[in-house]
Amino acid sequence: MSLLDGRVAVVTGGSSGIGRGIALAYAEEGADVVVCDIREDPKEGGAPTHEQIESDTDSSATYVELDVTDPAAFEAAMDAAEAFGGVDVMVNNAGIWRPEEFLEVTEAEFQQMMDINLKGVYFGAQAAATRMVESGGGSIINVSSVNGIFGNGNYPSYSASKGAVRTLSYSLAHGLGGDGVRVNAIHPGAIKTKIGPEGAEETSEEQMAQLTAMIPLGRQGEPDDVAGVAVFLASDLSKYVTGESIVVDGGWTSWR
Ligand code: NAD
Repeated sequence: MSLLDGRVAVVTGGSSGIGRGIALAYAEEGADVVVCDIREDPKEGGAPTHEQIESDTDSSATYVELDVTDPAAFEAAMDAAEAFGGVDVMVNNAGIWRPEEFLEVTEAEFQQMMDINLKGVYFGAQAAATRMVESGGGSIINVSSVNGIFGNGNYPSYSASKGAVRTLSYSLAHGLGGDGVRVNAIHPGAIKTKIGPEGAEETSEEQMAQLTAMIPLGRQGEPDDVAGVAVFLASDLSKYVTGESIVVDGGWTSWR
């Protein structure tokens, strides 16, 4: 018996990076997965997530192309989950990040950050919770960031969007607990993915050495490190955990 046997999970931003890691880990634990994204191909290369799940595991998977900024688009994802038996786990993971100069950020840039990172989580959670309340429960997992706890002067709008995801998660946990819906947030630290503007400068070896020197576990995280916590939050191992924020950063922010 695997941890997520018989469950159905919807993962936004599931084509690449952390979302891909979570979708693959869920399938390995027996869940059927609806992978949602604006692009099917993983940024890091390899087969699309749903194809990899179908070829490497006994689970089923499908891909739904959607933009999380469009609340109505989640209907197609919920329909796809319904075809597998109905959504049990919703992972609102899709997000963008970019460094920015506060004094230069335009209204359009700010709005895009909020639309993807916050509005996308809000309405993804709403679409899933509507079904979960009817079916008697579920687990919603929102991917925030350590910047959603501590802030960062180099990414003010990103940090604000992620801080809002944290308090949104607490609020939904309060509101939905009576219906058996758990809501938790994950706060990753520095995870090896291709997030960031296309063509942006790669982190230099020197910058990487400085970063890892501040991480007690001595390395940058992998999507799989976040996926382990997402499996825990989706499974009955966490059945009495809601309204919680779990930091997954190798101890990076533990000195604060
Ligand atoms: P990534 O860029 O590798 O993956 C993000 C995925 O989201 C991509 O597949 C992208 O196509 C998709 N996406 C972007 N905009 C979308 C939209 N409008 N609609 C649907 N899908 C969309 O990035 P990642 O590092 O895997 O990031 C995943 C989440 O983790 C994000 O919310 C990010 O803020 C958060 N996070 C990442 C790190 C890190 O170090 N990588 C740290 C903290 C938090």
